[in-house]
Order: sequence, then C-alpha cells, then structure tokens
Amino acid sequence: MLEKDNQKVYVNGEFYSKNEASISVFDRGFLFSDSVYEVSAVIEGKLVDWKEHFARLIRSLTHLGIVNNFQEEDFYQIQKKLIKENELKEGLCYVQVTRGVAERDFNFTKKSLLPTVVVFTQEKKILNNPASKVGIKIITVPDDRWRRRDIKTTQLLAQSLAKTHAVQKGVDDSLLVQGGFINEGSSSNAFIIKYGRIITPNLSSDILGGITRSSVIKFCQINNIKIEEQKIKINHLMNAQEVFLTSSTGFVLPVIEIDGRLVGNGLVGGMVKEIQRIYLEQIKAKLS
Ligand code: PMP
Repeated sequence: MLEKDNQKVYVNGEFYSKNEASISVFDRGFLFSDSVYEVSAVIEGKLVDWKEHFARLIRSLTHLGIVNNFQEEDFYQIQKKLIKENELKEGLCYVQVTRGVAERDFNFTKKSLLPTVVVFTQEKKILNNPASKVGIKIITVPDDRWRRRDIKTTQLLAQSLAKTHAVQKGVDDSLLVQGGFINEGSSSNAFIIKYGRIITPNLSSDILGGITRSSVIKFCQINNIKIEEQKIKINHLMNAQEVFLTSSTGFVLPVIEIDGRLVGNGLVGGMVKEIQRIYLEQIKAKLS
C-alpha cells in the first residue's frame, strides 16, 4: 500500500511531503546499491529495539567504510518526528544511508562523499497480523545472494525475487538454502523445534544477524528456554515439529507448510505460541 500523499519523508536534513522527496540519479545507493538500511517496528506509536537497530546500522556502515555523521539520538529524533507527523500508530520506520552522490565510477576512493540519509514510515498491521495466528506457507529456494549477508545492504534483488517467486507459487515466502543447509527467510531468520530443542542457524556471513532473532534468543534465556545456534540441514527442517521465522515487522511467524508438506500437524504449535507471548511481553516493556 502506498502511503497517503501528505506523509512526510526525511531527506538530508529536511522533511518533505512524500511526492516531493527525491535523491540524485547519481546517488551511489541508486547506481550501485552502495547503501545500508534499517527497519524498526513501530507499535503504540513507539519504536521497537531502536538502540539495537542503530548499533547494527553502524556495523553495516563501518564494514562498507561509509561515513556516518549521525548519532543515535539524531536518528531517534528524526524518527520520532516522522512518527508524530505521519500519525503512525503501528507499522515501521525505515532508515537508509547511502555512500552519497558521485560521477558514476566503480572506484569510490577518489573523494570523500557526503552520505545521503533517507527516513520514512509505513503503516502495517503488526500486532494483529493474521499470519502470526494462522501461520504461513513457504517454499525452499537456492540462496543466490552475495556472500556478505551479515551486512544489511540495500542489495535486495535476490530476496525480492525469492519472495515474488513464493507468492507466484501461491505461498507466503521463500526460505533460502545453500549446500543442503538452511540460511534464512527472504527477509527473516529461521528457527526449528524438534524434540523440544529450539535451533537457529549460527551467526556467520551466510545470514543477517536479525535484531528479532537475538531478542528471541535473549528473552527465551530469561525464561529458561534454551536455544541452540548451529547449522540446520534441510532434512532436519522438513522433520521439525515446529518452525518459525523472525523479523522486525513480522515478529515471530509460525510456518505451517514447507514445499507442500505440513509442519507437524499443520497447525500453529504450542512452543511457537509461547515464544510469541514472551516476545511481545518483553518488547512492550522497552518501547522507546
Ligand atoms: N534476514 C534477512 C535477510 C532480512 O532481510 C531480515 C529483515 N531485514 C532479517 C533476517 C530479520 O532481521 P530483523 O529481525 O533485524 O528484522
């Protein structure tokens, strides 16, 4: 859904109406996907896990050597202003930082560039997303992305194609697999539950270190629920009793079917429901 025309968008120090916000065609974010981003959920008009998102944004910028002129508080105030002006109660806040504008050239070392910063909001049903109650259906597809998936860049074509492919096949999303192991969803991290053990692929350059993933691990530990981080073979996924995906705007989404086969009995499982409950309880206590 396109947001209402009167929505405000932040670009490089100014707030514009949605139709007037623009960037240069020579922006390296546009020409090379030379750019990183963060998406934070907004519920009750407040940001979820902003501090953690900012830390990951800095990590991504540092890995790519993009200059950062912003403090955590600067981004926080811009987002708070947009949430208020756009009257956003539930949805997301998107922050993107590109290396900046330059004559098109693969080599960017010639001059120091001023990064382009864009922030906007989007309405989205998060708390009452029907998928979190009834679960989603997914298919497995080869992971065609570049090798540094731990850096949150805007090179999202492979993920976008994987998601679109899933929808064209009549399901909700794709799970990216590589060499007989599962990596992650097109825009989410994956967890399986088998014989009461909860397992998620360990952090590596194969996957993005999701903020929701780490919150779920932390909140489960607080509640004495152990989660193991290790590689997961596709056949373990296919035999799991419960499967779920985590992301900032989906939170904890149960998976009920994979490649046409039911997960467990095809109904949302009890452990996933418990993790959903714990996750919501914990994040509601630390909205900002
Ligand atoms: N993996 C990928 C590839 C993603 O795009 C996302 C969401 N951006 C995630 C995992 C989940 O990360 P987070 O929980 O920080 O939204």
